[in-house]
Amino acid sequence: MISLPFVKDQTYAVLGLGKSGLTAARALSLSGAKVRAWDDGEKARAAAEAAGVALTPLADAASLDGVTALVMSPGIPHSFPQAHPVAAAAKEKSIPLISDVELLLRAQSGSRFAGITGTNGKSTTTALLAHILQEADARMDVGGNLGPAALGLQELGNGGTYVLELSSYQIELIHTAAFDLAILLNITPDHLDRHGGMDGYIAAKRRLFDMLKGKGVAVIGVDDEPSRTIAKEIAKTGIRVVPVTVGNPIEGGVWVRDGQLHDGRARDGKTFVADLMKAKALPGRHNWQNAAAAYAAARALWIDPKKAAEAILSYPGLAHRQEKIADIAGVAFINDSKATNADATSKALACYDAIYWIAGGLAKDGGIESLTPWHKSIRHAFLIGKAAEDFARTLDGKVPYTMYGELPAALDAAAKLAWSEKITGATVLLSPACASFDQFANFEARGDAFRALVQDLSKRSVGAQVAGAGA
Ligand code: ADP
Repeated sequence: MISLPFVKDQTYAVLGLGKSGLTAARALSLSGAKVRAWDDGEKARAAAEAAGVALTPLADAASLDGVTALVMSPGIPHSFPQAHPVAAAAKEKSIPLISDVELLLRAQSGSRFAGITGTNGKSTTTALLAHILQEADARMDVGGNLGPAALGLQELGNGGTYVLELSSYQIELIHTAAFDLAILLNITPDHLDRHGGMDGYIAAKRRLFDMLKGKGVAVIGVDDEPSRTIAKEIAKTGIRVVPVTVGNPIEGGVWVRDGQLHDGRARDGKTFVADLMKAKALPGRHNWQNAAAAYAAARALWIDPKKAAEAILSYPGLAHRQEKIADIAGVAFINDSKATNADATSKALACYDAIYWIAGGLAKDGGIESLTPWHKSIRHAFLIGKAAEDFARTLDGKVPYTMYGELPAALDAAAKLAWSEKITGATVLLSPACASFDQFANFEARGDAFRALVQDLSKRSVGAQVAGAGA
């Protein structure tokens, strides 16, 4: 837990008591602040009380009297589509709206900070950069949106490095220019209602570069127009920009072509760094962008290029993102439960040739219409959850499918068909293109269920082999 000496005897309001809010309330009160903690949801309030956090209703301007700052959970709107009344009241009274990350930046001002944002790939790049630093024996900790909340991290002090995944909502609540490194992976339309449109969303991402220290470095993926424009504008302000691309060589930058990672800033002129085809936990072109960005970031933090390259190849991967659970009798079983929309699923479908695809759940707008280019790799679709009928309509006449209702039956059928067809490279892939809430608490619970079922299948198949050998 991070101690916050500067908050002693002051009053802080904490709105939203999820993981980050609860941790913030506890860190503030352990540091001697008077805390007014509140959540509009009954469940969250009960959990907070159970965790020993005292509640004070926050509803209007009066409830903010004497407050130094309002610590907002990034999930609560403070501007669009409509500011939460407490956020609006704080603005009226000129009380700063801050995030838990802001408190961490102020508390550990002797440490280095790397902030990672983008529409997609944040968690992967954050975990990969953390893995590179760990392998290089750097003193570091990793959290934010991914893993522990900012104020639940270790105190690293001078010379330590914090690797922080930052959503655009979190960036909007940061005010201290404390970052040594800011990484922007990509920008595609997402969460536009919360930012008042695409311009607001781009501005929120761009703001991370305003939070760079004087000599801070910007690593920017330049494969989409908004990010490219930001890179150009940032470079004009004198900030050092390292561009990253999946494509042709780029001057002064890092690129991946045909799966080969190159560094244009290598002093000896030898640009080749690593063959990403060997990085088993980073399949697909989208991961090339993540690997290139993490490598560029590691270099900006003075990690030896060879060590960084080795660490990329040994990266173990994150759960639920094309996580390989097992190979059973020639069939790979992959958990991509994090793919909660068609775009994310398309990235996984692009990686395999003979797919037994388990999909469905709570569909997003547009369903799976956009997945047509990948139909040819799908041997059979096994549909579950509320979206099954809709998905069946889209696939009808194009991809063979069967509706199973629940995940266990779908997995059993997928495994049986994959084993019976005996195709090289056969892959049973859970990549639902849907939210999970119709049948599971969240995407993690769905992925955990899949993992347990596959592990059970693996045990049963070993049992069958032993029994077969004895016969
Ligand atoms: P985030 O934390 O930004 O949601 P993750 O690293 O958890 O990103 O990846 C989530 C999904 O997004 C992955 O399963 C993959 O389908 C897709 N994805 C990952 N990296 C990228 C990228 N660089 N560009 C586009 N899509 C990506």
